[in-house]
Amino acid sequence: MTTETELHLLRIALPLPLRRAFDYLAPPPRPAIGSRVRVQFGRQSLLGIVIEHPQQSDISRDRLRVIDSHLDLAPLFPEPLWQLLHWSARYYQHPLGEVIDNALPVLLRQGEPALRRPLESWRLCDGSMPPAIPRAPRQQQAMQLLQDGPLSAAELREQGIDSSVMQRLAEKGLAEKVDLLAMQEDWRDTLLEHADDRHQLNTEQALAVAAINQAQSEFAAFLLEGITGSGKTEVYLQLIAPVLARGEQVLVLVPEIGLTPQTLKRFRRRFAAPVLTLHSAMNDRERLDAWLACRSGDTAILIGTRSALFTPFRKLGLILIDEEHDASFKQQEGFRYHARDLAILRGRLESCPVVLGSATPSLESLHNVGTGKYQRLTLTRRAGGAQPARQEVLDIKHVPLVAGVSPQLQQVMRQHLQAGNQVMLFLNRRGYAQALLCHHCGWIAGCERCDAYYTWHQGSRRLHCHHCDSQRAIPHQCPHCGSHELVGTGIGTEQLESALAELFPQWRTVRIDRDSTRRKGELESHLQGIRDGHYQILIGTQMLAKGHHFPNVTLVGLLDVDGALFSQDFRATERLAQLYTQVAGRAGRASKPGLVVLQTHHPEHLLLQDLVHNGYGHFARTCLDERRALGLPPFSFQALLRAEAVQRERVEHFMLEAAGLMQQLRPLHPGVLCIGPVSALMERRAGKYRMQLLLQAGQRAGLARCLEQWLPPLEGLSSAKLVRWSLDVDPQEL
Ligand code: ADP
Ligand code: ZN
Ligand code: ZN
Repeated sequence: MTTETELHLLRIALPLPLRRAFDYLAPPPRPAIGSRVRVQFGRQSLLGIVIEHPQQSDISRDRLRVIDSHLDLAPLFPEPLWQLLHWSARYYQHPLGEVIDNALPVLLRQGEPALRRPLESWRLCDGSMPPAIPRAPRQQQAMQLLQDGPLSAAELREQGIDSSVMQRLAEKGLAEKVDLLAMQEDWRDTLLEHADDRHQLNTEQALAVAAINQAQSEFAAFLLEGITGSGKTEVYLQLIAPVLARGEQVLVLVPEIGLTPQTLKRFRRRFAAPVLTLHSAMNDRERLDAWLACRSGDTAILIGTRSALFTPFRKLGLILIDEEHDASFKQQEGFRYHARDLAILRGRLESCPVVLGSATPSLESLHNVGTGKYQRLTLTRRAGGAQPARQEVLDIKHVPLVAGVSPQLQQVMRQHLQAGNQVMLFLNRRGYAQALLCHHCGWIAGCERCDAYYTWHQGSRRLHCHHCDSQRAIPHQCPHCGSHELVGTGIGTEQLESALAELFPQWRTVRIDRDSTRRKGELESHLQGIRDGHYQILIGTQMLAKGHHFPNVTLVGLLDVDGALFSQDFRATERLAQLYTQVAGRAGRASKPGLVVLQTHHPEHLLLQDLVHNGYGHFARTCLDERRALGLPPFSFQALLRAEAVQRERVEHFMLEAAGLMQQLRPLHPGVLCIGPVSALMERRAGKYRMQLLLQAGQRAGLARCLEQWLPPLEGLSSAKLVRWSLDVDPQEL
C-alpha cells in the first residue's frame, strides 16, 4: 500500500477548451513528462498528458485525486516537437490540452498503446512483369502502380484499389504482401539515390542547392521563388539526397489538393528509402503506424498536408513546403495554426533548414525576405527551355457570351484545338448555376439557414448550399408567384461543360471540380485521360490550377475573375494574382508557346494591368507598398474573435462584454486597435448568427501580451458559455 507522501504530484493537460492545467497525484513510478495518463475529471474519464512535475499545488493534497492509470513509460513526443506544442499553444492562445490532442493520432487519443504493427503493403512478385498481365482493369492498374516499387494498402485504396483486387493478384502469384517498413528499415545502409532521372542542374538551380546545403544541421529559412516549371521539384530532390545520406529525415508539406501521384512517383523513383504519405484514404491504424515509423526513424521522407507538421521525427534534417502561399496551410477551425509559420519555428527547434517554395510567394514571405528573416533564391527560367506564355486581357463589356465564353475566346479555342492542342478553361464556381431565379417576379432560391443562395446542381438535380451543405429538390414553380419560368443565373462549371459540348462537338471535354472527383481514383483517372490526350477541352475550378503539368495545353482562358477585384477582403487581390499566375503557368512548353486569355469587364483595372504587363513579382511589391501605407498585415498583426449562436441576442451580449473587457485593458495596451464588434460578412450561416471583433497592433509582442490578459476573463464570462466562440491569431479570412 502506498502512503499519501509517496504519491507524486503531476500537472496534466486535458483535451478541454480550458486554458489551464489540472493537478493530480500518482503512485510510483512517477509518469514521465509527455506521457499519457487516464484520470477522472468530474464524471468523465479522460486521457491527459503530464506536462509538469510541480513541487506544490494550489489545491491541498487531500483534495487532489489520484490518476486511474498510466499509459506510457516514456514521453510520446521528442523534445523539439514538445517545445513546439507549448510554443504554439501560447502563440495561438489555444488550450494546451487541445493543441497536444490535435497532434496525436486518433488511436493514441483513445488510449491505444504506442506500438507499431507491420504496415500492410504490396509488391510485385519477381518476374511477374511483363508476361502475366491480368485482364481485369483494376488488377492491371494495380500492377502498373506497383511497377515503381511497393505501395501500402492505404495508398492503393486511395487509387480505388481495394484488398479484394490485391487478394486476386496474390492468388495468381503476381503480387505479395509485405511489411514496407520492415523491408526498408535499413535504408541508411543502402545506396539511396537512383541517378537515372536526375537532371544536370542549371546555374540557378545549382546556386539554390548550394546555398541551402550550406545550412546543413542548422536552422535557416529560404524562399525558393521559381516560376511554374522552373525545376523546383528537381531542386527539392537534390536537396533531399545528402540529408538522407547523413541518415536524417525529411518532411515535405504540400497543399490539400497539391499532391499528385505523379509527384509522389518522382520521389519514390529517386530514392530507395521509405517514402510515406499521409492522405485521406488512411484509416486510424495506418495513421498511427506512420506516426510511429517517423518517430522511430524508420521512415526517410514523409509527405503530407498541414497536419503532418506535428509528426515526430527521430532526426529531422530538412523541411520543405511546396506552394507555400497556399491558403490550406492555415487550419480554419479548432486550433487555428498556420503550418508554414510553425514549420519555420520547428526548423529552429530541430536545427534544420526550412525551404518555402512557390511560383507566387505570399506577401508575408516576401516581407520576411525584405527584413532578412528568409534568404531568397530565384529560378527565373523554365527548366525544359519553354517560353513564358503570352497574355491577353479581353474586354467583354457588351459582348454576347455563351455560357460565359466570348466569341473571341471561342475563335481562339478553335484555332488551338484544330492545331491538335489542348485548351483549359478556368471557372472558379462549381455547379450548374450560381442561383435559381424566377424570371417572372425575381424570387431567388435562398438557403433557409444561411444568408446565401442555393447553387443549382444539374448532375444531382438538386439545390445545394455551399455554406451549410443543406440540399433540396429543384422546385417546379416559383413559391411566390407560381410561375414555371425558373432560370439559372451565374454560370457554373456544369453549365460550361454542356455548352462546350454543343459548341465544340468534335472535341471531348473533361470537368475537374469537387463534384466530378468525389470518388476515389476519379481525379487521377481524369488527369490520366488528359495526359493521354483523350480530352481536348479541360474545364476546372482552382483544383485544376494546382500542381498539375499538362504539356499539351497551349491556351488557358480565365472566364470570370471580376468578383475578386472588388472583394471586401484585403487579401482577395493577392489570392487572385496567385491564382492567375498559377493558371497562366500551365500554358505552353518548349515547342509550343502558350497563350493566356483573361476575360473581364474591367480591363483597365490596375491590378490586372500590373499582373499582365509586369508579372507577379511587380504586383507583389505594389501590393506590399499598399499594405504598408494602410498598416495592414504583414506590417501589422491581427487577432479575430468570432462568436456564433442561434439566438442573435446571445452573440451580441457576448461580443459587447468581450469588447467591454478589452476597453478596460486598452490603457495598458495603447498600441492595440480594437475594431468592432460587427456582423460577419455572412451574418447567418447554418442557422447561426455570427459576429466578430478584430484586434490589430503594430507589434506582435504587444498584441500577444494584450491577448494573454484578455482571454482568462473572457473565458470566464457567463455569456461565453451560451455561444460558440474562437480566437484566430493571424486570421487569413476576415
Ligand atoms: P516545378 O516544380 O518548378 O514546376 P519541375 O521540377 O517539375 O518544376 O521541372 C519541370 C520540368 O523540367 C520537369 O519535367 C523536370 O523533369 C524538368 N527539369 C527540371 N530541372 C531540369 C534541368 N536542370 N534540366 C532539364 N530539365 C529539367
Ligand atoms: Zn416568381
Ligand atoms: Zn446554407
